[in-house]
Amino acid sequence: MLGYVLDDVFIHHLAPSGHPERPARVAAVRDALAAANLAGHGQQVAIRAATDDELGRVHGASYLATLSRTVPGASGWLDGDTYYSPGTWDAALAAAGSVSELATQVLAGALGSGLAVVRPPGHHAERDRAMGFCLINNVAVAAAAARAAGAARVAILDWDVHHGNGTQQIFWDDPTVLYQSIHQFPFYPGTGAPDEIGGPAALGATVNVGLPAGSGDRDYLAAFDEVLAPSLERFRPDLILVSAGFDAHRADPLASMQVSRYGFARLAARVRRLADRLCAGRWVVALEGGYDLAGLAEGAGATLEALIAPSDQLASAAEVALADASPGAQRAIGETLRALTGGGAAVALGAAR
Ligand SMILES: [Zn+2]
Repeated sequence: MLGYVLDDVFIHHLAPSGHPERPARVAAVRDALAAANLAGHGQQVAIRAATDDELGRVHGASYLATLSRTVPGASGWLDGDTYYSPGTWDAALAAAGSVSELATQVLAGALGSGLAVVRPPGHHAERDRAMGFCLINNVAVAAAAARAAGAARVAILDWDVHHGNGTQQIFWDDPTVLYQSIHQFPFYPGTGAPDEIGGPAALGATVNVGLPAGSGDRDYLAAFDEVLAPSLERFRPDLILVSAGFDAHRADPLASMQVSRYGFARLAARVRRLADRLCAGRWVVALEGGYDLAGLAEGAGATLEALIAPSDQLASAAEVALADASPGAQRAIGETLRALTGGGAAVALGAAR
C-alpha cells in the first residue's frame, strides 16, 4: 500500500510576493493527486516533526541551534533565496519528519511505497547552511533515518533540474548512501560536475549526469538507462528515495529543460521497476522543486501512476539508446561514465557491501 503525506502545514510556509517557491505549488500537486483518486489508492500518513536525533544525523549542532533560535514564529531571509515566515519552522520540521516516517515505515514493510508532498524543499540544504529555498535536507534526514533503522544501503535519485549540492555534501564520503543526480549543467548551484564521484571512502557513491540546457525526455531516459540504472543495480539498495523536483518540465520558468509528462512517467516507471527488482518495491518520493503549476501537476500525476500502477500496466520501459540522445547529452553521459570507470569507483562500491 502506498502511504502519502499531504497537509496544510506545508501551505502555511508563506512566501514573499512573487517568490517562485510558493504555497500554491503544494495546492497544485494536491489537486492533481486528488483528481487521480490518490485517496482510493493509498493511505494517508500523519505528519510528524523530525526529532533532534534525526536532524542531528545530517546537520551540525550549531546550524540547528541557529535555525531554532531564528526561524520559529518569525520572518526573514537565511540567504538571498531562502526566506522564512511564521509557519516555516513547523513546515520544515514536518517535511523532514514525514519523509523519514515514510522511509522507515516502507523499510519495515508497514507501507509498500511512499509519496511526500512537502515544502520547503530540502536538497540544497548543506550540513551547516540553508540555501536555495531549503532549510533542512528532508531526503538526507530520511536516508539517515533509514540507515539508523537498519537499512544497509540507501540510494537517493535526484531528478530535480538543479543539482542537490546539499545531499551530495552530506553523504560525500559515505559508501552506504548512493547519491545520483540528473540536472541541468552548468547551472545553479554550480556543483554536479561529472567528475564529482564521492570522497575517498565512497568513490562511485556519488553519480552526476549534468545535461545541457534544452535536454528532453530521450536525454533523461538515456541518462537513466546508461548510467543510473546500472549503478543502482551494482549498489543493490535496500530502499530508494527520490528527490522529485519537476522543474525540468518544459514549462518551468526557472530552468531550460524540455521534459514532458511522458518523460516523467517513463522516468518514474523505470525507478519503480528497479525498486521492484532490487528492493521489494521499497521507494519513497519526496517533492523538491518545480515552479510551473501545470508542470508540477503533470509531473506529480505521472509519478503517482508509477507508484500505484499494477506492474503489467507501467509505462513502457523500452530502452533509450545513447544514440537516441542529443549530441550534447551523449557527451555529458559519456563524461560521467568515464569519470566512474576511471576512478576505481566500482571497487569502493563493492567494499560497501
Ligand atoms: Zn530545483
